[in-house]
Amino acid sequence: MAHFINVILPIPLEKSFTYAITAAEADFLKPGMRVSVPFGKTKIYTGLVDTIHTQAPLIYEAKQIHQILDEQALVTTTQLKHWQWIANYYMCSVGEVMRAALPNAFILESETIITKKEDSVIDDMALDDDEFVVFEALQHQSSLKLQDLMSILDKKNVLPIIKRLLDKKVINVQEEIYEKYKPKLVRYVKMASAFTSEKKLQELLEELSRAPKQREVIMTLFSISAQTKKPIKVSDLSSESDASSSIIKTLIDKGVLEEYHIQMDRVQYDGDDNEASKSLNEHQETALKQISETFETQDITLLHGVTSSGKTEIYVKLIEDQLAKGKQVLYLLPEIALTTQLVDRLQIYFGAQVAVFHSKYSSNERVEIWNNVLQNEANAQIILGARSSVFLPFRNLGLVIVDEEHETSFKQFDPAPRYHARDTAIVLARLFKAKTLLGSATPSLESYYNAQQGKYGLVELNQRYNNVLMPDIELIDIKDKHKRKRMKGHFSDRLVEEIEETLAAGHQIILFQNRRGFSPIVECNACGHSPQCPNCDVSLTFHQYKNQLRCHYCGYNTIMHKTCEACGGVELDAKGFGTEQIEQEAKVLFPEHTVGRMDLDTTRGKYGYEKIITALEQQEIDILVGTQMLTKGLDFRNVKLVGIMNADNMLNFPDFRAHERSYQLMTQVSGRAGRTKERGKVLIQTYNPYHRILQQVSTNNYKQMFDEQLEDRFAFKYPPIYRMIKITLKHKDYQKVDVGANWYAKSLRTVFGDHVLGPEFPPVARIRNQYLKNILVKIPQKQSLGKTKEAIGKINTSFLAVKDFRPIRVILNVDNY
Ligand code: ADP
Ligand code: ZN
Repeated sequence: MAHFINVILPIPLEKSFTYAITAAEADFLKPGMRVSVPFGKTKIYTGLVDTIHTQAPLIYEAKQIHQILDEQALVTTTQLKHWQWIANYYMCSVGEVMRAALPNAFILESETIITKKEDSVIDDMALDDDEFVVFEALQHQSSLKLQDLMSILDKKNVLPIIKRLLDKKVINVQEEIYEKYKPKLVRYVKMASAFTSEKKLQELLEELSRAPKQREVIMTLFSISAQTKKPIKVSDLSSESDASSSIIKTLIDKGVLEEYHIQMDRVQYDGDDNEASKSLNEHQETALKQISETFETQDITLLHGVTSSGKTEIYVKLIEDQLAKGKQVLYLLPEIALTTQLVDRLQIYFGAQVAVFHSKYSSNERVEIWNNVLQNEANAQIILGARSSVFLPFRNLGLVIVDEEHETSFKQFDPAPRYHARDTAIVLARLFKAKTLLGSATPSLESYYNAQQGKYGLVELNQRYNNVLMPDIELIDIKDKHKRKRMKGHFSDRLVEEIEETLAAGHQIILFQNRRGFSPIVECNACGHSPQCPNCDVSLTFHQYKNQLRCHYCGYNTIMHKTCEACGGVELDAKGFGTEQIEQEAKVLFPEHTVGRMDLDTTRGKYGYEKIITALEQQEIDILVGTQMLTKGLDFRNVKLVGIMNADNMLNFPDFRAHERSYQLMTQVSGRAGRTKERGKVLIQTYNPYHRILQQVSTNNYKQMFDEQLEDRFAFKYPPIYRMIKITLKHKDYQKVDVGANWYAKSLRTVFGDHVLGPEFPPVARIRNQYLKNILVKIPQKQSLGKTKEAIGKINTSFLAVKDFRPIRVILNVDNY
């Protein structure tokens, strides 16, 4: 009987591909193991076994696999089900989900280039025939690809030969397809056994009396091992004894010390023993009890608790319960910035059981966490992570917590899968029959609506912990302030006054400037020209610090010119304002104080956030200017004043969620003020102080905001009342996109009628030299989502069957946020 496997390849293919295997392989293989397989004429991919069967494919002859890459499944069957759901729901291929889910190091690539190692002397007698052929070939050609080797050797399975040649140091590969992942080894030392007896040791110390530094190292080693039974790192010994590593090396060479290595996971906690969790106050107790009650009948509960009501401490109790039952917990956060503070907080209670996972970790680190979760290791019981941690290979998930569930950054825009981590996590939890708790001070309209409809449980917590008062929010009419000349730059006199008072009292200040507003663009006062990005239809943004003009869409940058490129005028002015300008102004207004800035530009690098957050916590920064990054759940004890520089650009943002988002942003950033006994103060500067949303923010009236916004969503057929799928067409030729989008929209209208909006060019219609045009499909609640997607899928297929349209890229975005 012939044996086959269906393999998921990490590319956008509609179907999985079938390969032939031997009976022995069929016996060995399990779903979730990796295999390397040929694809097309020349490519080699790492694929994942989906199913093992005896059904030969009908249309093509199945090729043989090259090699099995795992001894155990790397991906669980639950994950394979989860991937399938993601692919169906978000209209992409399972292969695209695979690519997003697996750390890169797990996916070997095909176009590996092999070169000769220049500096090593090769004994060709040590090479077998195949190896010698490759070696010979490399004498004539500087580099070879995998497929070249396949034809030279007339063999498909060339990977073992490459591995041998690598081991023998004959070749280099540009991309190491074998162990891309290298566990990090840490060096340890101990006394060589010859010196462990008292007598020998005495002799040694006497002998070393003329080498005081070496003696010091030995003494230190003893004093450390007296304190701890743990192995001693070379690095610790060196710093404790103040000895260079060459001194330690001398001792190793002499045979006094013995060196050994232990494989260490890079991400690890080496703090002290755990602390007991805090006992909850009566409001928290009640909330916790209600959550447990809703969980008896519901899988998902929304905890709507005002900022600083102590939601995190409630999560801690729920986590303790799960750990006691031996279950894993996934704790999702919208932003890496937040993990910093939270990981410290959770480690106090849970020590090394907490693992952190996010995109700023290196591929190696991600591999380690993947393996730890897969093996259900003790150090991977609580996973604290951003979006992509929903892809980890959980074994025994008991609870998912989605904190700040309203955050739109839970949704991935690009590339596919364009998934929403909250919704994807809910589905993951269901597969484990686990519960999901969504938490927020400002729930998304979707979640609150679901709670109202009885789809989710709802628990409300309206008291701040310790009865700290909600901050006092004051609206400042800057139109009036401008008229009466009470503005200094972008600071009203009231704001300056409050800042001065707060500084005098020794407290800190946060100034919020929304990034989605317009950053400064440069405009010529004579002709009105403003420099444009050559690749995108946007004005370039002025960055004073580097004296540069930059494009925020494609990264294009150029030096800021002294004169207008269009008319040669010399009066160039920055219009609009961003964080950098506020920072500048604050430095001038408060020269005695330190001003910091937190935005995308200042938080690059792995520890970018940590540095700024720590500086604020340590009170090295008096005034922190920042974007929405600041709004998310950070807890700073000494911040007493929050200034919102301009509420209007948020409110006027052209998006149906602009009002909801504005409410959430302002309420969240206000929540950073006065989290201890003293009441915090918030100043909101606006041209429109009577705006409903601003009134609702200042009275903390979530319910009213929800009701009014929901009415609008009903009236205009937007989520959560209707679902939406956005279809974006993309091509460098304007005409092509235009004609294509019209055809596409027309076909959609024959099926969905009025529920199709567009096609329309977005506000920035060209990005990286590609024109974009959008079509929206609105889906009423009664209409089947599955059938809708099927219909769109059909239209998409016939669209791409038109020769002229084939080069157009079509992007489907389900539940676009
Ligand atoms: P939220 O997550 O709702 O914004 P937090 O959990 O961060 O609120 O709590 C706000 C502050 O109150 C934190 O500093 C936290 O340590 C403190 N806190 C909350 N609950 C308790 C408790 N039961 N005992 C002691 N401190 C608490
Ligand atoms: Zn650009």
